[in-house]
Amino acid sequence: MSTQAFDLICIGGGSGGLACAQRAVEYGAKTAVIESQRLGGTCVNVGCVPKKVMWNASSVARAVADAADYGFNVTIGDNDWPTLKHKRDAYIVRLNGIYARNLEAKGVVHVHGAARFIDAHTVEVNGKRLTAPHVVIATGGVPTVPDLPGAGLGITSDGFFSLAQRPQRVAVVGSGYIATELAGSFHELGSQVELFIRKDHLLTHFDVMLGKSLMRETRAQGMLIHEHVVLAALKDESGRKTLVAADGREFAGFDCVLWAIGRSANVAGLDLKSAGVATDDSGYVVTDDYQNTNVAGVYAIGDVTGRAALTPVAIAAGRRLSDRLFDGKTDRRLDYNMIATVVFTHPPIGTVGMSESEARAAYGDAVKVYVADFTPMYHALTTRKSHTDMKLVCVGPEQKIVGCHIIGVGADEMMQGFAVAIRMGATKRDFDDTVAVHPTSSEELVTMR
Ligand code: FAD
Ligand code: NDP
Repeated sequence: MSTQAFDLICIGGGSGGLACAQRAVEYGAKTAVIESQRLGGTCVNVGCVPKKVMWNASSVARAVADAADYGFNVTIGDNDWPTLKHKRDAYIVRLNGIYARNLEAKGVVHVHGAARFIDAHTVEVNGKRLTAPHVVIATGGVPTVPDLPGAGLGITSDGFFSLAQRPQRVAVVGSGYIATELAGSFHELGSQVELFIRKDHLLTHFDVMLGKSLMRETRAQGMLIHEHVVLAALKDESGRKTLVAADGREFAGFDCVLWAIGRSANVAGLDLKSAGVATDDSGYVVTDDYQNTNVAGVYAIGDVTGRAALTPVAIAAGRRLSDRLFDGKTDRRLDYNMIATVVFTHPPIGTVGMSESEARAAYGDAVKVYVADFTPMYHALTTRKSHTDMKLVCVGPEQKIVGCHIIGVGADEMMQGFAVAIRMGATKRDFDDTVAVHPTSSEELVTMR
């Protein structure tokens, strides 16, 4: 069997693997990317990109609904889901092509197939062996399907992007990013949506203000949220699905059930044991601060490590790793603190840093919190309303800002700039000294008292 030698092999051509490989070739490293499916990984094919298209479509639906209040004479028709899907899919195919051409232009060898370790520095793909002193595991994650009778009758986010028609009655199980985002898209495009959560509010990993505010908005828009539902089974009754709760309650009549209860590491088929690579109890590849696994010369980046499963995080970790391995920057690594994130709900959420409760647990009485809540000016003329809530979490006598949390129209585009300032150590005084941009929602963040 022939063996091809490289300086670097990235297993996985998603956000992390592609970024790592493309940075490495800039430094002259002979690099291969192995991808078993479509280039771009989760983000491009079944994640951020098609999700944002659906969020944009639902934002258009909301604008159309408000148009008459702004004096437009509009007739509102239904959204044509198959047309939207067709255009979305075509856009993604274009992106797949751009990714392939970029790899070729930069001189990265793209191997299409599933890789499996033979030993720590040798992998096998399509019956051929590749070897390198540096191997990066960037195989991402897969959606979790609960281990319940009938669970296979439901779909996950992957199935959402395959839906050829919009289901009319939808049950969404879960309370995190995907549940809230996809529930919103279904709803705005015309489905009747019911959310099933096992606790009492949404987005329990975020500042509590965000989850509570989103629940109010979600219910005000007409979606139902069933709290404290622990599911025991899913069954099909004449083509309609029924969710069965552990306490015996049944929720019937759904055309589609979407599981959105988290993701797990995509390591099946890699044969990590042959490389001696350790995973934790949840199956994530264990890495140190420099993305090293327990095996010298084998690294892991992105979702497969179970840390901050976000595209820019995978990209940043991959690029820094190549800077370290091939550009002599021996201390280069990703700082996982203060990573901003947006949840693309309606209204959207932007958040960075500590929640109020995390800050109080860490700093006690040294925490001071500032809040603002208001109806954005966009709604001054509209019948339909949405609310904005903002919170700054400050610490110590200098009132250093350690957390910023926003739900409201425009929060998605506000967050990046504020995250820069907060990461640089901005204090409340710095915000106070910044003259507001008027009339905007973001000005509230620099005028809080
Ligand atoms: P991936 O992008 O998953 O890439 C891993 C690749 O490895 C895959 O292409 C897979 O086919 C390949 N692979 C796996 N095993 C093998 C093997 N043995 N051999 C060869 N190839 C293999 N993040 C954001 O920042 N913003 C968002 O708005 C956002 N929205 C999301 C929406 C959804 C519905 C989902 C599911 C995720 C979303 N994310 C978002 C998260 C984001 O998609 C991931 O954090 C990101 O894709 C992780 O990149 P990665 O490189 O670690 O893995
Ligand atoms: P999340 O981790 O966001 O949320 C899943 C939630 O589902 C859990 O927090 C938990 O909430 C609940 N849950 C877990 N198990 C069960 C169960 N058995 N029954 C009912 N509820 C359950 O995962 P997602 O799947 O939504 O998304 C995966 C990751 O992808 C995210 O963490 C994020 O990193 C990334 N992503 C990012 C996006 C963005 O940047 N906009 C968009 C989409 C995904 P609780 O404990 O409250 O019950």
